Amino acid sequence: MRLLLSNDDGISSDGLGALEEALAPLGTVYVVAPDREQSAASHALTLHRPLRVQQLSERRWAIDGTPTDCVNLAVNGILRNERPDFVVSGINRGSNLGDDITYSGTVSAAMEGTLLGIPSIAVSVAGRERFDFSAAAPFTAELLRALSGHQLHRHTLLNINAPALPRELIKGVMLTRQGKRRFGDAIVEKVDPRGKKYYWIGGDDLGFVEDEGTDFAAIARDMISITPLHLDLTDYTSFEDLAALKLDWR
Ligand code: MN
Repeated sequence: MRLLLSNDDGISSDGLGALEEALAPLGTVYVVAPDREQSAASHALTLHRPLRVQQLSERRWAIDGTPTDCVNLAVNGILRNERPDFVVSGINRGSNLGDDITYSGTVSAAMEGTLLGIPSIAVSVAGRERFDFSAAAPFTAELLRALSGHQLHRHTLLNINAPALPRELIKGVMLTRQGKRRFGDAIVEKVDPRGKKYYWIGGDDLGFVEDEGTDFAAIARDMISITPLHLDLTDYTSFEDLAALKLDWR
């Protein structure tokens, strides 16, 4: 098996290291990851400046770009003649649940793999300061073993979130849907030493809507969450309502 690993926390992240170690027995592991933290980079692709690639060892490369740049450049460039069987992104330091998925560089690296036709998985561990990869890393290895020989749907990637717990305290695995975050209006407005106003986004964590069957509910129950995400973002249920508007611009 050929595996391409990336992340958004940067190539020196311990989450990526834990993943490399756990997946090594499965085959050949290539790492192409950002040279620094790119969390919340979303699915950004760098088009207006050159990208620099630094080869750190035989199968590890750091790139001064986004997670999406890394996967794109790996598949279409660095590993052109060694197409990966899977793209695995993570392990992220912090969960990627509910609405947060849309900001996530971790999930976007897996999205890029999916767009390039390679089955892809994003893996994150919940927590704030201390992160325990002792469940997420071996679970990902087991998942890849189970998936090899099976096909993911063509536009589908898996978003895995594990609780911030050691392996023995994990209560199981739950197939989930994307939950809903409760948003605050946390914009901090301050004044810099030169008298100029500045703003800072985010601050208070309001958590998630308590709803059965969601990714958030799995984490709250100390279970590993697997959410299949689909890249066709079309809302088919809206067709009828929109057609009723009878928009005609001939
Ligand atoms: Mn991150």
